[in-house]
Amino acid sequence: RAKEDGRGVARFFQADMDAKVQARRELEMDLRAALVRGEFELHYQPVVAVESGEVSAFEALLRWRHPTRGMVPPDRFIPVAEQVGLIVPIGEWVLRTACREAANWPATIRVAVNLSAVQFKGGKLAAIVASALAEAGLAPRRLELEITESVLLRDSDSNLNHLNQLRALGTRISMDDFGTGYSSLSYLRSFPFDKIKIDRSFVKDVAGSQGDGAIVRAVAGLGTSLGMITTAEGVETREQLARVVADGCTEIQGYLFGRPVPAGEVQDTLERIRLMDKGQN
Ligand code: C2E
Ligand code: MG
Ligand code: MG
Ligand code: MG
Repeated sequence: RAKEDGRGVARFFQADMDAKVQARRELEMDLRAALVRGEFELHYQPVVAVESGEVSAFEALLRWRHPTRGMVPPDRFIPVAEQVGLIVPIGEWVLRTACREAANWPATIRVAVNLSAVQFKGGKLAAIVASALAEAGLAPRRLELEITESVLLRDSDSNLNHLNQLRALGTRISMDDFGTGYSSLSYLRSFPFDKIKIDRSFVKDVAGSQGDGAIVRAVAGLGTSLGMITTAEGVETREQLARVVADGCTEIQGYLFGRPVPAGEVQDTLERIRLMDKGQN
């Protein structure tokens, strides 16, 4: 009996595994088709400069409008796209689309694009970025490229080389999700980032937890003394805003100023934030 039960359990796990493999295969096929069918779109979230109270940039965030599953968030498909290499053509589409759409915005406003470590393989990234900028007629200074520490974790020599090529084009380089990795501090030493984005997990309890407040303050101080912009991610409340500003962050991103919106709503978002600023002062 015990043996039979064991086999039953094994069979159960096997069926479960098959279902998972099948679901992943379907996701992969759907992802390939999505690029061809034009199901991806970029939404843009405002980033506000503390000193001026004005929008300094919008971060481009990838969305997948699936014909039957509805809007699929990036966390649900980017890991698979990375595993099967599809993030390379998808990432190229993101770069070209973000540059083209940002070229319609006021010239003071930059666009931030997230890069996956996988896009650094193959050595073509700098050429793709250069061609996206040229095609859109966007000044390189208006493009920010966000990377996480995974880029510097593996193949770090070759990736550092790529980062320097990207910097040589005139683009800005940001370290995203700062503080969540294994050795964030050592990455600050390996490359002169233009910006540090402090992960929203530290911002969440910035008003409640003394420890998180101290970390935000320390990172903002460090960034400032290294000549970097420091952005607080995930600011949702006025209380969090007051704290991260007092702690020395120089830029704010989060639902308080706005959620990511489709390209057609970027101008409205700019207007709304301009009015918010007037209301405050
Ligand atoms: P990220 O680059 O750290 O982007 C910020 C994420 O935080 C976005 O989630 C944004 O919607 C969310 N967020 C912003 N403000 C708030 C807030 O006040 N509260 C809360 N709870 N969340 C906030 P999203 O759009 O789901 O993207 C998740 C991640 O997916 C991104 O994190 C980025 O790592 C990745 N991603 C998005 N677009 C791309 C892309 O085009 N390429 C690559 N490689 N990765 C991307
Ligand atoms: Mg980002
Ligand atoms: Mg982030
Ligand atoms: Mg993130």
